Amino acid sequence: MFGIDPLYIAFAIPGLLLGFWAQWRVKSTFRRYAQVGTARGMTGADVAQSILQVHGIRDVRIEPSRGFLSDHYSPGEKALRLSPDVFNGRTIAAAGVAAHEVGHAIQHAQSYRFLGLRSALVPVVQFTSPLAVPIIVGGFILSSVTGPTIGQLVTIVGLAMFAMVVLFQLVTLPVEFDASRRALAALEQGQILGPQEHDGARAVLRAAAWTYVAAAVSSVLTLLYFLMRSGLLRRR
Ligand SMILES: [Zn+2]
Repeated sequence: MFGIDPLYIAFAIPGLLLGFWAQWRVKSTFRRYAQVGTARGMTGADVAQSILQVHGIRDVRIEPSRGFLSDHYSPGEKALRLSPDVFNGRTIAAAGVAAHEVGHAIQHAQSYRFLGLRSALVPVVQFTSPLAVPIIVGGFILSSVTGPTIGQLVTIVGLAMFAMVVLFQLVTLPVEFDASRRALAALEQGQILGPQEHDGARAVLRAAAWTYVAAAVSSVLTLLYFLMRSGLLRRR
């Protein structure tokens, strides 16, 4: 049904292409700067430890994680998990990504509002994310079988669930931009990177930011598509 809907293609393809492009770009930028060693030669783990120390954060653990670009900060566990390339890497990419993850730990320590909102939305989205689209589609099918009343009600429930996913993606944007801003400031203040190295770290973090932009654009477009398809947002 969606494979042949030109409206779906018009709404889904831009987000999909942007997503592929962003993924390609973050990987290639990371790989490029993961080849470039820094003058100070600190590992990503060292960089993270030093920035945490400067900010007086003592209760966050730094742990190695598995997988390429699997770096993340877990507010629940107060754990900063760095992928092997970042944890052990003495490169511009490692310093940039490690500092970014510390940026999230600093947000947490300072009760940054959007991080709190994002964390509150995690369990909601874990519940709604896998169910929203099947419920919306179920509503469409019900509308065509039993008439619009029940079908539309089901569709609206599905749309509301999908809207939570969109909200989550949108709230993620300030959280990610702010973490990178904090990271670059900390790298500069701590003189962890030289000016040229700093530009490389900025390039890596900018590329990473695009993946979140792509995810947000994609989910907004998908919501718009379902709104139009449901007739709640009238097609011109
Ligand atoms: Zn992040």
